[in-house]
Formats: sequence, structure tokens, C-alpha cells
Amino acid sequence: MEHQVIDAFRKQFAEDPTHIAFAPGRVNLIGGHTDYNEGFVLPAAIDRGMWLAFRPRTDRVMRLYSVNFDREIHLSLDYLTQGRGWQEYPKGVAWALEEHGYRLRGIDAAVVGNVPRGAGLSSSAALEMAFARAFAAASDIEWQIVPMAQAAQQAENEWVGLNCGIMDQLASAAGRRDYALLIDCRTLDLEPVPLPPHTAIAVLDTGTRRSLTDSAYNNRRAACEAAAARCGVHTLRDLTPEQLEARRGILSDELYRRARHVVTENERVLRAAEAARSSDAERFGALINASHASLRDDYEVSSAALNAMAGCAVGHDACYGARLTGAGFGGCCVALIDSRRASSFASAVQMCYTNQTTLESQVILCLPSDGATLKDLHGV
Ligand code: ADP
Ligand code: MG
Repeated sequence: MEHQVIDAFRKQFAEDPTHIAFAPGRVNLIGGHTDYNEGFVLPAAIDRGMWLAFRPRTDRVMRLYSVNFDREIHLSLDYLTQGRGWQEYPKGVAWALEEHGYRLRGIDAAVVGNVPRGAGLSSSAALEMAFARAFAAASDIEWQIVPMAQAAQQAENEWVGLNCGIMDQLASAAGRRDYALLIDCRTLDLEPVPLPPHTAIAVLDTGTRRSLTDSAYNNRRAACEAAAARCGVHTLRDLTPEQLEARRGILSDELYRRARHVVTENERVLRAAEAARSSDAERFGALINASHASLRDDYEVSSAALNAMAGCAVGHDACYGARLTGAGFGGCCVALIDSRRASSFASAVQMCYTNQTTLESQVILCLPSDGATLKDLHGV
């Protein structure tokens, strides 16, 4: 990938890049729809991402080229206006950094990625964090994980117009090889948690997609806010399952079930982190399965394809647990599996899924990986 993006840069701009920024996608092992409730999530950065070859400029021009889209785009940092297309992510990050008081230099940049788009592996956060690293390096801004992830989240929320939480950007920025990250979405405290030995992460793409501006996502967020308000707490983070039970009578059945998913999911995340710390893959897997059931039955964000995929995965004896990951309604499941049986798992699951749904699927085996990095190419 590095060679490919360096070659693309040379071809496009007829000069050499000075640096490569890389930022990974991420997969969330457990903690579905908890991030915007100031709860807990347990994602891992993955060994797929976005590579960005770039060269700082002396003016405020940005020339951007995506190998995947084969388009070059010219912009001025002095006249950023919202539009459509992949360039909105780098533009949004530039805008957010300048809102934070930084003054950016222009860059020439070529980008290539291998995160499947719109599959719930956050190709958008990978793109944002790769550009954040590049802008920081080009403009002598100190690289700090949390503020940079916040700027990228602001870009996605306010520039691109997608109301996501901070998990994606933080996981992409702070990933650590062989570790998942326990993130407290209220305090933004991060704790790397080692995955149990001989486990691997399989991402199971159902081949179905949702559109992220789906009203259902905003509807779930609104339900959480309404449930918290009725219960007299700031967010659902502030309720234990017992406290929610005691307030059941003041909630409609729908609000109660939405809230029950969130408060029990927060507990599952903390228990999963404990299981991981004590190398208990079985226990971790059981919590992942319980998360899927709760997302399916209480939060109602699953789909027939996601349920079929999760069922095929847990039906294989190399699988400790599987659940839908990302916002739901389509996209991917994630499974914690025995790494020694990964290839038989992958082919069996694909066959099972096609038999059940007549759809094609893709299995992506992932290694928990390091977060955003920067490489200086001087002298290479
Ligand atoms: P995801 O779940 O993958 O984050 P999003 O819809 O949030 O899905 O983001 C996908 C968008 O990110 C794409 O539509 C595109 O604009 C941008 N993107 C992803 N990969 C690339 C790439 N390799 N080059 C340029 N833009 C990309
Ligand atoms: Mg995204």
C-alpha cells in the first residue's frame, strides 16, 4: 500500500512525497450504541486503513487525489465551502483544526485505502485521522490523540453532517497492536486491554448496506435522550440495570427496551474487558452473543441478514461469540474466534450464509493494530 500511494503521488503531482500518514479503520468488539450515551465501548483498530502520501506546500492550496476514486481535487484553505464527495472529510478536518485556532499550510496529498466503505469499519474515521496526522505534520501542530480525535469528530458531525460519537476517531488514533481499547465515552479515558491468546477477530460482511443518514439512527438517539430525561438523569450512562428496573413504570415499553439495551450493554462491555484481562475467551464470547440478542430484541437495529450471519458464525465451533457491529440494519458482524481455525471458520461461515440468504459475503480476518502513524520519507 505504501508503494502504491507513493507511486500514485509521483504520477499525479510529478514530485516526491515527503511523508506518509496512516490511520486504521476500527471494529467495535462490544458496546453497540453506547457511545452517544456517554457509556463504554471496546473497539480495536484493525490492520486495514488509509495511507496518505503528502508534501506540505508553501501556500494555502490543497491538491487531493484518491487512488480509489481516481479523482484529483483542488481547493483553497481560504475558501472552504461545504459540498459533496470524499473531499468533504479532509475539508472538514481542515476546517475543524482551524476552528480550534490552528493555521494550516496547504498540502498535496494522494490517498489509498483498503477499508470497505460503509461496512461499519469506519473508513471515514480512517480518512479523517490520516488527514489530521498529515495536517498536523505539515503545519507543525503537536500530535495529541484526544484533541485530534475530537477535531475529526467535529468535522464529521458539523461539516459532513453525521452525528457520530467519538469512538471511531479515538480508536483509529489510539489503537495498539494486540490490544482492544476500553473507552469511557464520558471521560474519554482509554485503557488498552489484551485480547485472549489465540483469538482473532473476524469481520463478516453481509453484503447489505444501510445509509448512515438513516432516520432510524437519529430516532434511537432521540429515544435514549427521552428515556434519560424521563428517568431524571443526564444520560443513560447514569443508570444501573437495577435503577432502570425501578423506573420501568414511568417509561413506555419502547423507551424501556431501548434504555435496557444501553444500560445492560454498558455492563457487558465492562465484563468483557474483565474477561479479556483474565484471558477468558469463552466468557468474552458469551457477552458478545448477549450483546447481539439485546441489539436485535431490545434496540431493534438488526436485520435478517445480520441475524443469519451471527447465527452462522456462532454455529461454528471455532467461534466464541458474534454480534452485529456498527450502527446496524446492514453492514457487518464481528466474531471472536480461535485464530488457529480461522480459515475453516471463514469458508464454513460463507457457505452457511449463502445457503440461508442467497447473498454473497466477505470474511475479513483482522489483527488489532496500532493507531495513526506518521513516517518521514526524507532520505528514503
Ligand atoms: P464507513 O462506515 O466506512 O465509515 P461512511 O459512509 O461513514 O462509511 O464513510 C465512507 C466515505 O468515506 C466514502 O463515501 C468516501 O467519501 C470516504 N472514503 C472511504 N474510503 C475512501 C478512499 N479510499 N478514498 C477516498 N475517500 C474514501
Ligand atoms: Mg463512517
